[in-house]
Amino acid sequence: MTMDIAAVRADFPILARTVNGKPLAYLDNAATSQKPRQVLEAVDRYYRQNNANVHRGVHTLASESTVLYEEAHQKAAAFLNARSWQEIIFVRNTTEALNLAATALALGHLKPGDEVLITRVDHHSNIIPWFLLKERFGILTRMVDALPDGTLDLEDFKAKLAGRPKVVAMTHVSNVTGWISPLERLIPLAHEAGALVVVDGAQAVPHFPVDVQALDADFYAFSGHKVLAPMGIGVLYGKRELLTRLPPFLGGGDMLETVCVVGGVCSLCLKALPWKYEAGTANVDGAVGLTAAIDYLAGLGWDAVRPHEESLFRRTVEGMRRMKHVRLIGPEDLSRRVGCVPFTVEGLSASEVATALDGEGIAIRSGFHCAQPLHERLGLSSSARISLAFYNTEAEVDRCLAVLESLG
Ligand code: PMP
Repeated sequence: MTMDIAAVRADFPILARTVNGKPLAYLDNAATSQKPRQVLEAVDRYYRQNNANVHRGVHTLASESTVLYEEAHQKAAAFLNARSWQEIIFVRNTTEALNLAATALALGHLKPGDEVLITRVDHHSNIIPWFLLKERFGILTRMVDALPDGTLDLEDFKAKLAGRPKVVAMTHVSNVTGWISPLERLIPLAHEAGALVVVDGAQAVPHFPVDVQALDADFYAFSGHKVLAPMGIGVLYGKRELLTRLPPFLGGGDMLETVCVVGGVCSLCLKALPWKYEAGTANVDGAVGLTAAIDYLAGLGWDAVRPHEESLFRRTVEGMRRMKHVRLIGPEDLSRRVGCVPFTVEGLSASEVATALDGEGIAIRSGFHCAQPLHERLGLSSSARISLAFYNTEAEVDRCLAVLESLG
């Protein structure tokens, strides 16, 4: 299936702007995606027509808003192929989702001295929440190493499973190299070793369909903003059995059926899933935007999105491989990667490279991309990163390559 790229780009108003007098080429999609007008209009329509607090009233607007919010859970459940919409908890972002999973597991599943296996390939948001459990709960972490190409050391993974960790926390796709982890092999190994598996899917869901049942992930997290939705809406999927058994992380309004105070003691009856984990006023506009984002992607179809992204990725890497002053980072095999291209340029810092590109209207990321342990393993303090989306064009890639060529 092919994609009408001009029509797609016309859906993204921001792509028409200029930066430093040049047309914007937005190649920083792993940091956040741009939003199609269908998402912008859905959020605008929500505030113009439906805005009210959910689950808090019998009036028409409250009912409409509640329906939209619950529909968004159903949409996200279908997007991940969860068994039930009640397995979808809305949070702010991947970071909050992973902190929620870590804290709920610490409160209801783990004991002091238990071990969590984390990985060097992960973003800080799937490392730090687990480290923090040590001080608060006495829970220990061990880190699986990375290979020199930035992929997970699978032998080390297997060896460390022998230590019988209770939880394995790992990414689906690296935000530095775009490497797709072989979760279909790793999750069964972790389960055989008796561990629950928490997956960071932030960089996976924008690029290919994810099926949490086929993966058999116990928890799966992603951020709406990286997949066309507004900032401030994220998803934690959890298996019903676990979410039912574990305690909530936040307490407050909208998560309780009843609260009785007898003799100064509070007795709580928590609401059914997912509301038990969603205390306080919800991000309904974000949820409405997420519904529109998922619908938009479904309208395009992965069969159209994937080949276009793959061809842009190959064009970028092949162009850069010809440049002697550019060092590409990440595995050579592009077939197990999404369109993330980390690199360094001889004699220039990553931020100098990004600044030179910005001068030409081209946006890329520089720094260590919240993945310092991986950069350390790669012997780098920082890198520049081009990250592609389906709305990018060959012309944008070529403009970027031309600037990089000129830096030699
Ligand atoms: N995990 C990965 C793999 C990411 O790329 C990111 C964002 N860079 C995050 C987690 C954190 O996402 P957020 O800031 O939306 O919580």
